[in-house]
Amino acid sequence: MKTWEVSGRTRLVGVIGDPVEHTVSPAMHNDAFRALGLDYLYVPFRVGKADLASAVHGIRSLGMRGVNVTIPHKMEIIQHLDRVDPLAAEIGAVNVVVSDDGILTGYNTDAEGFLNVLMEHDVEPEGKNVVILGAGGAARAIAFALADRGANLIMLNRTPSNAARCAADVSKATGQKVEVLALDNRRLADAMERGHVLVNTTSVGMYPSKDDSLVPAELIRPHFVVADIVYNPHRTRLLADAEKAGARTINGLEMLIWQGALAFEKWTGKKAPVGIMRRGAVRALKSYEK
Ligand code: NAP
Repeated sequence: MKTWEVSGRTRLVGVIGDPVEHTVSPAMHNDAFRALGLDYLYVPFRVGKADLASAVHGIRSLGMRGVNVTIPHKMEIIQHLDRVDPLAAEIGAVNVVVSDDGILTGYNTDAEGFLNVLMEHDVEPEGKNVVILGAGGAARAIAFALADRGANLIMLNRTPSNAARCAADVSKATGQKVEVLALDNRRLADAMERGHVLVNTTSVGMYPSKDDSLVPAELIRPHFVVADIVYNPHRTRLLADAEKAGARTINGLEMLIWQGALAFEKWTGKKAPVGIMRRGAVRALKSYEK
């Protein structure tokens, strides 16, 4: 087999965020580049809030092909880019930047990535009542994608004013009504009574607080599809409870893989080898879970 090594022609991509210590994206992308014989290298860069503007200049001055953008920069980065794709502008968050000779364009692949996962699981959003927990950056992308596909959304959030803002933006852009509720067990029970799909977009249940869940297990009924976008651990407490209740489950790693696959295609122009990216992501996650 021909060996690959970094050369003067290697194209550099990466992720900027803080923290990035537990990212699985390098394994996912570098495996895909090697499998397709592409001369690209993916590197994580820890960039704090104060350094975002200079890091974006660095994408241009170092001749990088682009970056993934993660917490806490997904919204803030927009003002530093030359162009923003209309969907990402509506969502108000960018998770992929592509540099064409130093002209930087921002995209959002979280939204399409989440829809791809639903399609893989044969879940059609149109006409479904979807209960969304959370109203942060990821919730915005997911809510836009679902509302755009004709889902009826019920959004519950710890801070209702954040959900009200998110819901107003989603309704304005998609024409779909979004119901907003404060996150407490009584309102959650009411929403679950009417729901078909539940999506946790909050960080509750994420390592190290692996035993936490916002949803009392008795509220989950067998007809539900339950998706959790937390991917560390792989099987969150919410998903374990949903499995026990007989519901179908979708884990956060799936969305992570699909948003990455769509980013890969934007940088390289090649179809992403999704199976290889999945194996890379699982391997990296296991190494962190040890
Ligand atoms: P974010 O913008 O900071 O939003 C966090 C959300 O979680 C807010 O709605 C917040 O409510 C809520 N929240 C946080 N702690 C809570 C608690 N103890 N109880 C109730 N609600 C709580 O973060 P984000 O970018 O949306 O990311 C959220 C999670 O999704 C993270 O775990 C991230 O790793 C994961 N994620 C996964 C993928 C994937 O591809 N699988 C992609 C993106 C993000 P308030 O409004 O009240 O603060």
